Amino acid sequence: MRYTESQQQSGEYLRLALPLMVRQGAAYHPVSYALWYEHVGGLNPELSAVLQARLEANEPLTEDDAYRLYSEHIAQKEAAVFENMRQCLQVLLAHTADDVDSIRGDTSRFQRTLRDGSAELTSEAPLAVAQQVISRLLHEALSLEATTRTLSEKLEARTREVSRLTEQLNQAHSESLTDPLCGIDNRRGFMRAAQAVVDISDGLAGTALIILDVDHFKRLNDEFGHLLGDRVLRSIAEVLRANVKGGDTAARIGGEEFALLLPQTPLDGARILAERIRLVIERGRIRRDRSEQPIGAVTVSLGLALGEPGESIEGLLARADAALYAAKRNGRNQVCVSPVSAAAARPREASCA
Ligand code: GH3
Ligand code: MG
Ligand code: MG
Repeated sequence: MRYTESQQQSGEYLRLALPLMVRQGAAYHPVSYALWYEHVGGLNPELSAVLQARLEANEPLTEDDAYRLYSEHIAQKEAAVFENMRQCLQVLLAHTADDVDSIRGDTSRFQRTLRDGSAELTSEAPLAVAQQVISRLLHEALSLEATTRTLSEKLEARTREVSRLTEQLNQAHSESLTDPLCGIDNRRGFMRAAQAVVDISDGLAGTALIILDVDHFKRLNDEFGHLLGDRVLRSIAEVLRANVKGGDTAARIGGEEFALLLPQTPLDGARILAERIRLVIERGRIRRDRSEQPIGAVTVSLGLALGEPGESIEGLLARADAALYAAKRNGRNQVCVSPVSAAAARPREASCA
């Protein structure tokens, strides 16, 4: 969604939203602000109904509520806008097809008039019949010309409408696949990229998947604030972006969870990359505001799995996730690898570096 309010109008919304936000339990970060902004601006009636009910029941929004409501009423609404535009395009195309059908009817009527006229114009036909035929032909020709002109004007207008919608659709489409905070793919973008790999490579065999989750991120938010938390997420996305190449995909698939999809990458290569990313993040120092006071090291845990023949995207995600949880259980700030199931007659634990 693109907000189009002026500085003055949005300033007014800010003044209205602040006292409402003060009553909530969630922190004042962009996710919870977006909720109240859309509410006070009357931009999202369904969301307003939910928030109004919460206000009346005196139930403050918790942190989890804020993220859930954002996902349900703002992120998914964008998908609905996208669907609406797709339907508009469909209607336009259907109308155009109807117009083409109608001109087809006019053309065949004209063809019939021509054929009948030529049959009537025998050598014995009196002049009066010939005059009648000519006047009928002239009438049909003029009416066909008028229909064609109207159709061509309609088609021009529709073409303009289609290109305007296509542009909006492309914009909405790429926005619906991108995470607005980090500028990399979101979960939907990730799933689409994974599906493309399945289609092109006939499955996920040989594709490596790394899932990365920030360690103790809640603590970091609590201690330094959500704005800094968001900055940490953007820095991590930057590290991922800098470490992937052409056909790879880096995505933010959850709050503080990221994924790297690496087609045609051997397990060892993916493990080295995961370890490098872990180290770069551990060594990176994000500073607090202008005070230049560094926060403690931010660390991440990573789970890695290599796709197997016939494996689904969900199956691969589940194995990488299990490896990630092994990394968390094992003490965090490390990479764990899911065992290759073909080599394991019985399920084994993920191996951690
Ligand atoms: P663990 O090491 O086990 O992963 O612990 P954790 O604290 O990182 O995990 P937990 O799932 O308990 O907490 C994740 C927190 O991430 C909770 C939520 O407030 C925060 N979070 C989720 N999305 C965002 C976001 O977009 N921005 C910020 N700043 N915080 C977020
Ligand atoms: Mg998590
Ligand atoms: Mg975490």
